[in-house]
Amino acid sequence: LASREAHPESSVIDVSGVKIGGGNLAMIAGPCSVEDRDRMMRIGESVVKSGANLFRGGAYKPRTSPYAFQGLGEAGLKILREVGDTFGVPVVTEITDPRNVELVAEYSDMLQVGARNMQNFVLLTEVGKTDRPVLLKRGMAATIQDLLMSAEYVLSQGNPNVVLCERGIKSFDPSTRNLYDVAAVPAVQGLTHLPIIVDPSHATGRPDLIPPCALAGLAAGADGVHIEVHDCPEEAKSDGAQALLPEQYNEIVQKMAAMAELL
Ligand code: PEP
Ligand code: MN
Repeated sequence: LASREAHPESSVIDVSGVKIGGGNLAMIAGPCSVEDRDRMMRIGESVVKSGANLFRGGAYKPRTSPYAFQGLGEAGLKILREVGDTFGVPVVTEITDPRNVELVAEYSDMLQVGARNMQNFVLLTEVGKTDRPVLLKRGMAATIQDLLMSAEYVLSQGNPNVVLCERGIKSFDPSTRNLYDVAAVPAVQGLTHLPIIVDPSHATGRPDLIPPCALAGLAAGADGVHIEVHDCPEEAKSDGAQALLPEQYNEIVQKMAAMAELL
């Protein structure tokens, strides 16, 4: 179902009115974790003003350490929804547990399946039973074929609304958090009609590399860019080290808009 051969025309995924694919760019921004309401409202207001058309934030965080901040849960979902409604953008948040699908779908417009769960087939099957658009991130050691087969799990349950995301893969080089596989973008587009966006935040883990890698993603044909933004990265509950400041996000959106004009 995912293959370009079977479906030559590029799919356009509608996320509560925001279209992704076929020339429509997803500009997803927000903090790694949903934090307190006032902070979320501030960050939301600023990224939407800059041009983001989807707001993100995790209420259920898949953390390496069980002692690290795990997310605000349902309270976080409520905050996320309020930010989206206040500033008029759909919201995307990660789902980590198949038992939470209904709850997370109630508050959000798009369900993110993160890198760590890309091959959680029970979770993929459950999100496939909903009609909520899914943001499916490439696993950190997943091939392009693995990614496409995971998308197939969702599609085969009857949910055609899948957007793929290149977010970097594990490598031997600690210079960057992951290895940004920008070639995956046109490679995936050759194989599937589904849109694919890039996430230079998790791919590089470095604020200095996020802007050039965001532009590289668009130049490679990505259908959108996902960037983590925080107004006080030192205080962030997760991924502060890779967060762009709101003013840095504003700057890169201008450049991305200029580049999109050229393409
Ligand atoms: C995230 O988006 O905050 C996240 C955990 O991403 P990934 O699954 O790509 O690591
Ligand atoms: Mn993150």
